Amino acid sequence: MNVSTSGSWADRARQLSIEGRAFIDGSYRAALSGKTFANVNPATGRVLTEVAACDAEDVELAVRSARQAFESGVWARMAPVERKRILLKFSELMSTHREELALLESLDVGKPITNALNGDLPSAIGCIQWYAEAIDKLYGEVAPTAPDLTAMVVREPIGVVAAVVPWNYPLSMASWKLGPALAAGNSVILKPAEQSPLTAIRIAALGMEAGLPPGVLNVVPGFGETAGQALGRHMDVDAVGFTGSTEVGKLFMRYSGESNIKRIGLECGGKSPHIVLADCDDLDGAARAVAAGIFGNVGQVCNAGSRLIVEEPIRDALLERVVAIARELKPGDPLDPATRLGAIVSSAQLSSVLQHVQRGKDEGARVLTGGERVLAETGGFFMAPTVFDRVDNGMRLAQEEIFGPVLATITVDGLDQALAVANNTIYGLAAGIWTRDIRKAQKASKALRAGVVWINCFDKGNMSAPFGGFKQSGFGRDKSMHAFDKYMDWKAVWTAA
Ligand code: NAD
Repeated sequence: MNVSTSGSWADRARQLSIEGRAFIDGSYRAALSGKTFANVNPATGRVLTEVAACDAEDVELAVRSARQAFESGVWARMAPVERKRILLKFSELMSTHREELALLESLDVGKPITNALNGDLPSAIGCIQWYAEAIDKLYGEVAPTAPDLTAMVVREPIGVVAAVVPWNYPLSMASWKLGPALAAGNSVILKPAEQSPLTAIRIAALGMEAGLPPGVLNVVPGFGETAGQALGRHMDVDAVGFTGSTEVGKLFMRYSGESNIKRIGLECGGKSPHIVLADCDDLDGAARAVAAGIFGNVGQVCNAGSRLIVEEPIRDALLERVVAIARELKPGDPLDPATRLGAIVSSAQLSSVLQHVQRGKDEGARVLTGGERVLAETGGFFMAPTVFDRVDNGMRLAQEEIFGPVLATITVDGLDQALAVANNTIYGLAAGIWTRDIRKAQKASKALRAGVVWINCFDKGNMSAPFGGFKQSGFGRDKSMHAFDKYMDWKAVWTAA
């Protein structure tokens, strides 16, 4: 598989050969049933390729291979500095192939090639590199015991890990699981979302080329109810790192309880509040952040600032700016390097977003801009950035995760009401506040029930700080050293003097 390095992205796309098979025990193979499913390009509505529809029997093979690799110690007991070398090589290979991977990502989910190249790829590559660098710096402890006893507290890989990931940032989300899980010494079975399997399938071969032993990284494309459920219920999977909807996150808790109580880490949905107080002295900056926070990746972002909570005195001035940005943001061909707004991932997702918009109108909220499908003549699933005003926090528009470019504006009177509205949701993934008053900012950072709080900025982050949610946004953290907690166990070793 390769990609030409010259010509337009559309030319390169035409020359691309795409692998759609599963990767199990070190090689590509079709699903045992022979079944495939169509992989559709959301920007054209046309089929890109057929992908292996893995089922419980393929999952069984992958788990067996992963278990065998784990028990052999070929990876789990390799010196950390050696695992580091191989994972660094893995990230280097991803970097060498970044144009091919960016192109696959763009074709697969309708993401602008520019965003894939400059956002998703550096994020994924940097993540694998970060955990490679971290693994030989992860120390255990010696417990303060009695003089005649020594207790070492050591960290061990948990075993066979299933990584079940969504379609909005396919490679990035996969890397957030693969980085810590592989660095820790586990064997991993990655199940990409059915809408976005291509980069996951491709990097499996790059992992092998880097030196990951067979069975250490397997990729089983397929549907949630089949491949996903089979992993969740498998008696020999030790942990699941899940990113996706809260609804499916709850299913994984059930699968765990009904099988082997495997450890579950959940990065789920959100309905993040983006508060702008009347004393904000940078309305232009706030407006840009509000727009980027909900229209970036066409709103298909777990921490999207989908609820704008604004004080009345500045509401009109802020909305005027946000609406102006929204109107300038034109969705377009993802393979055009000038495009900043791509397609919605699937026809089903577009319909779901449009239904939310209609319900919002029915509930009495007012559309200031957008609200409709655009570029239908392309066959793609594009939608105009949409801003609602006059939203009440009790409306479904303000309570349900839409996962599209739809902003709901709620007007409040003062910080206390803003915080009450912000926290009045089942979710708690992220929150932002704009104010020039440090006391208000500090009060908000303590009061907001969210795993991430941004003050006078939005959506900032890198590998050094943890990411994850409170409440029904999940538990456990991706990124930073905290992510190891999901994929490692503690063991206390007592020695008599
Ligand atoms: P989803 O929950 O539908 O699917 C996620 C994964 O679970 C996919 O691989 C899917 O195949 C699998 N799955 C679906 N049904 C299943 C079942 N019955 N049993 C087992 N597995 C099943 O989510 P999605 O639509 O792919 O992604 C959007 C969701 O992901 C949003 O809710 C978004 O907020 C969330 N998300 C969260 C984060 C975060 O870090 N918190 C990041 C990105 C996306």
